[in-house]
Parts: sequence; structure tokens; C-alpha cells
Amino acid sequence: MTIDDQTARARTGESGAPPASRRTFLAGTGAAAAGAAAAALLGGPLAGTAAAAQPACPPDRKFAPIPESALGPPVNADGYFVGQITGDLYWVTDSVYIAMFLTTQDGVVLVDAPPTIGHNLLRAIGQVTQANGRPSKVTHLVYSHSHADHAGASVLFGPDVVRIGHRECRTLLLRDNDPNRPPPEVTFDDHFTLTVGGETLLLDFHGPNHTPDNIFIWAPGQQTLMLVDVIFPGWVPFKQLAVSQDIPDWIKAQDVAMSYPWQTLVAGHNGRLGTRTDAELQIAYVADLLASAQATMASLNPAPLFKKYGNNSWAIIKVYFDEASAQTAAPVTEKYLGKLAAADVFTFDNAFAVFEFALREDGGVLGPFGIHP
Ligand SMILES: [Zn+2]
Repeated sequence: MTIDDQTARARTGESGAPPASRRTFLAGTGAAAAGAAAAALLGGPLAGTAAAAQPACPPDRKFAPIPESALGPPVNADGYFVGQITGDLYWVTDSVYIAMFLTTQDGVVLVDAPPTIGHNLLRAIGQVTQANGRPSKVTHLVYSHSHADHAGASVLFGPDVVRIGHRECRTLLLRDNDPNRPPPEVTFDDHFTLTVGGETLLLDFHGPNHTPDNIFIWAPGQQTLMLVDVIFPGWVPFKQLAVSQDIPDWIKAQDVAMSYPWQTLVAGHNGRLGTRTDAELQIAYVADLLASAQATMASLNPAPLFKKYGNNSWAIIKVYFDEASAQTAAPVTEKYLGKLAAADVFTFDNAFAVFEFALREDGGVLGPFGIHP
């Protein structure tokens, strides 16, 4: 269900929304319709001051068009879309980031607070709860993981919201000491059942993957799984398999996700929800990358690089990895172009992660850099 944009107009000042001038500026960039997130990403410093210095023009690079199937619904004039998943469970996006919230008779449970959605979280929640008659106050905030791009608007929910996350999430946020991301006071090691106003979310930790604290958020009543920065519905994963800290366990986390009987996936990116078909397609993409990395390892001979670059060890290694990434990526990019958005953008970087970590450093398959005879 799409919540009527018009009802958004009923939001109120107590939501803490920024003044209309900023919103107007964002809309005025023309980015609102095309994806206000782009403006929001630039938003902080630039949005408030039209006189701010313009960034240097980036080089003109051409990429393949994005398949329609990868895109979500258009955002409204404020730069967000909010929709019902099922029952009392909703999702909100700025077309790049996604958060999820549960409206209950005792208040709202929010999962993640991406800063680019920012105050639009309050608008979306206000819009939904005004329509369904539930209280609009966010009483609980669950962190999927500690990263600022998914948690950096936590501060908007004040000191009294109950913040919940994995124990390692608390450790990381204590370290980061970021006023926008207060550490969770309620933590757990393996499993946590969160029940608010008769609604339940199950929080599960299955080991490190994208980060050491990334959890699976399972809404059993709604058959919905939220798992962030692991599966990217409609898109290839972000650079180097989402710059994940543990590549083999990130790959495994895709399969762990499939072990839940979900019908809807809330993946944290980009502008739409995910299906099981989306997840299966990404799993196939990563498996193809691994197979291609193995073929590359067997065929790529670094010996000429030693001759060419002499005592510059880093040059030898850099050119070897660049060539390995290019060879690994080539057939995979070709196969998935048109099927997964941005296959031509990040497959080279994803190939590097698979070649370097899944195959070499964690897999122990070193090819020409194995044990010296
Ligand atoms: Zn992350």
C-alpha cells in the first residue's frame, strides 16, 4: 500500500522537521523527483547555504542504464517514500537507504535511522500513525549494525528511546563516541525477543559478516527479514562486497538469510524491498565471481610483472590484483548486465574482494604466491 502523499502534509512541527527552506532547496535542485537521496547525501553542508563552494566537476564516466526492475517507487516532494509491508510493519526510503518501523498500540519500534532519510523518518512515522491511529512516539530503536550511514540519525529520537543492538554494536559505538549514534543500552549476544504493544521482532546474531555486529531482524508475524548490507535487491553489491570486514562470512550470511522463511526482505538499500528471487540472483552472482576468480588464479601468470617492475614490490602486486580483478569481473559483468543494476560499476571491486579474500587470504588458494618450491 502506498500512503497518500497528501497526508504527509499533515505532519507537524513537533516532529523536529527542519524548516521548509531546506526542504524547498532540496526540491529545487530537481533531485527530489529523480531521487532526492542524491541531494540529501549532499544535503548537510550544501543544502543550507546556496553560496557554498561547488565541488570540482568529476570526470565524465559512462555507465549502463539501470534496469527499471531495480528501481523503487518515486519519492515525494520531501524526498521520501513510505509504504506498508504488511500489517503494522512499514518501510521508508530515500531511494538509496531504507529503514523499517513497526507501529504498535504502545509506540513505534524503528529499525535503523539512516541520516540521509533523517527528519523524513519523523515525517513518515507521523504520516502512518496519523492514518492508522497508533501513537507516533518512537519508543524503541534497533540498530542493525553500528555504521553511521544506517544509524547516524539516531540522535533525532532523543535520550529516552530504548536503543537495542548487539553487544559488539555497543562496543563499537562507545569507541566511535559519535553524538549522533548513542550506544545501545540494551544489548544481547545471540538472540533477543523484542515485544512492544503485542508486536514482536526477533533479533538474531549469527556471527560477524558485513561488520562484527550485524544482526538479522526477523518479523515472524509479517514474514519479513531485515538484513542490511548483505543482499542488495536488484543491484550488485556495493563496492568490495559492501566493504565487508569478513568476506567468507558475508557470503555465508546470504545463505543464513535464505534459511528464514521470509517473503519480504528489507535490505537497507536501495529504493525497493527484496524478494527471494532477488536474493537467489545475488547468490548466483557471487558464486559466479568465485568460479571466475578460481579460473583467473589458474591462468594469470605474474612472472612478467617481476621482470617489468623489478624491486617495486607494490607495483607488481598492484598490477597483478588489477589484472586479476579485471579478468575475474569480465565474464560476470557481461552475464549480469541488464539483470543486476550497476553490474558495470562495482563488479571489478567485488571481483577484487572475492579474489583477495574468499579465494586467497581466507580461502588459502594462493596460486603463484603459494609455498615456494
Ligand atoms: Zn554498513
